[in-house]
Amino acid sequence: MRQYAGMKPLVPAKRIADFRAQLLTWFRRHKRDMPWRRSRDAYRIWVAEVMLQQTRIAAVMPYYRNFLRRFPTVSSLARARESEVLKSWSGLGYYSRARNLHRAARQIVSTHGGTFPREHEAALTLAGVGRYTAAAVLSIAYAAPFSVLDGNVARVLARLGAIRGDLREPALWKALESTAQELLAAEAPGDWNQALMELGETVCTPQSPRCGECPVAAFCRARRLGLTEAIPSPRKKRAPVAVTIAAAVLRDAEGRTLLVQDPGEHDHVLFSRMWQFPAVEVRKDAAKELAQRLRQALGLAAVELEKLPAARHAVTFRNVTLQPFLASVASLPKAPRTRAVPLDQIGELPVSSATRKIAAAAISR
Ligand code: SF4
Repeated sequence: MRQYAGMKPLVPAKRIADFRAQLLTWFRRHKRDMPWRRSRDAYRIWVAEVMLQQTRIAAVMPYYRNFLRRFPTVSSLARARESEVLKSWSGLGYYSRARNLHRAARQIVSTHGGTFPREHEAALTLAGVGRYTAAAVLSIAYAAPFSVLDGNVARVLARLGAIRGDLREPALWKALESTAQELLAAEAPGDWNQALMELGETVCTPQSPRCGECPVAAFCRARRLGLTEAIPSPRKKRAPVAVTIAAAVLRDAEGRTLLVQDPGEHDHVLFSRMWQFPAVEVRKDAAKELAQRLRQALGLAAVELEKLPAARHAVTFRNVTLQPFLASVASLPKAPRTRAVPLDQIGELPVSSATRKIAAAAISR
């Protein structure tokens, strides 16, 4: 932390044992009961850590249970087809996480005998496993001495040390990583990491931290200086980008529709190479551009597009408007990487929530 002038060690050496004991005692008494906390199985902990990235605990819970029912072991996940994995992930978003999890399961089976590796370097070679995930799994499952740093931990550390600045700024983040490692209770690294995360999630919250309930309030400089609300400094927000996606729900006489697996220009925004309706990112005229796409990609000429109610869909910094169109066709076109499915059974396929919203608009029509 030396480049951050004037910063003293977060906790003085003579008080560090006390600091660790208080936080660990609090965690062991107050920790929330989570399914992944009832196990030391590295696979279960890893799945939880991946699901919890960018997703709230309450949203993860049903997915976690279902996923483990469907894929109870690394080898069952490795054996599965990608489409089955995506189906279990369907609705949770950020689908590259599911693809990486699946890929990494295959790496674990082929290279590590079916067990999540114990070595840090080996863990980092797995698809989708970065420093945070490796440290979380290794410390919780194997009691390996690696500290985690996520947004919650960073906020707690910044307040404890009254550290100002944008915590995601690389030099400061790196300094916080070193601090987290220095503070780590090596005799219980898994509990320690979870304790810091739990403190950030439940007590040292972004707004209105509950300092009166904090087990380490006596060590907190931000509290002493009256700076708890001012730290961390607000991040510079990226301005939201407005995107409109026009999608065509083709429907034949038997109520079947056409899905495509087509990494078009809009693909990274919403659909992540999952089965989706033919769609286009709108520049000016939704109906015209969609008709052009249907003609070029599927050889469909002169279809009548009926505009359906639009739906909103927020993805990170994008505000997406989904503009569905319904088109009745005598028969669905045949083309590579397409499939015909009953429109009312879309929910059973591995599709994104954006695709579900489009289907819902067409079904309720
Ligand atoms: Fe966070 Fe308040 Fe505890 Fe400081 S005293 S660590 S600001 S909850």
